[in-house]
Amino acid sequence: MTLFPETVGDMMNESVLGRAQERDFIRIEAHQIRDYTLNKQKQVDDYPYGGGRGAVMQADPLYQCWKHLVDTYGPGRTIYLSPCGATFTQGDAKRLSREHDHLILVCGHYEGIDQRFIDECVDEEISLGDFVLTGGEIPAMAVADAVARLIPGVLPDEECFTDESHWNGMLEYPQYSRPEVWHDRHVPPILRSGNHAAIARWRRKQSILRTRQRRPDLYAKLDLTSKEDRALLAELEEEFPEG
Ligand code: SAM
Repeated sequence: MTLFPETVGDMMNESVLGRAQERDFIRIEAHQIRDYTLNKQKQVDDYPYGGGRGAVMQADPLYQCWKHLVDTYGPGRTIYLSPCGATFTQGDAKRLSREHDHLILVCGHYEGIDQRFIDECVDEEISLGDFVLTGGEIPAMAVADAVARLIPGVLPDEECFTDESHWNGMLEYPQYSRPEVWHDRHVPPILRSGNHAAIARWRRKQSILRTRQRRPDLYAKLDLTSKEDRALLAELEEEFPEG
């Protein structure tokens, strides 16, 4: 639900998500909230009660649009993208992709939307982070993209995402492609060794190291008690005694 459906369509109909829609694995629709207003001027916003700057999106145009979606597709999980929501994580993407067939993403603008629509129709509020954007479209597209790529068939196989940052609470290892030497910088030799077990071990070690250095909050939650991980940790202690 948006005031800028063309922007959303341009972005969501390209590349991986565009192909997934052509092949019917997912469908992403952008609905113009203005089309559902019951007033002649197609007005969707008005002054805030209590005074102050700007405009607030009114409850009824949002409700009419939302009701049309629910009547057409059945009840979905309704999410309002809001800086006041809980910060979006890969865990949320996983949960939403598994537990719901149908999401309704509500994009606000101006000073936000009338609280009564939130109270009546919204199941959860999601924030993209601790900053304020001009509208909910970018966060809605981020949520739609992160959820859609977890739907079976959208990516070639599950490993495309189970091997990536944040799936298991870790950051991904560094990636390299050709050429072998670029600006005098060499690809780590192990990646050219053809020894798949040694490569997997090197990648896990790099993931542990990156997570420890960049995201101590994630690192603190990792379970690294397996024999293999303890051996990697011992090596890291020797190589980076400072942590
Ligand atoms: N007055 C609101 C506040 O202080 O919380 C901010 C309104 S913002 C200018 C307009 C719209 O952008 C919001 O209704 C919301 O849909 C969207 N938005 C802005 N920042 C966001 C964020 N960090 N995460 C999700 N949505 C956001």
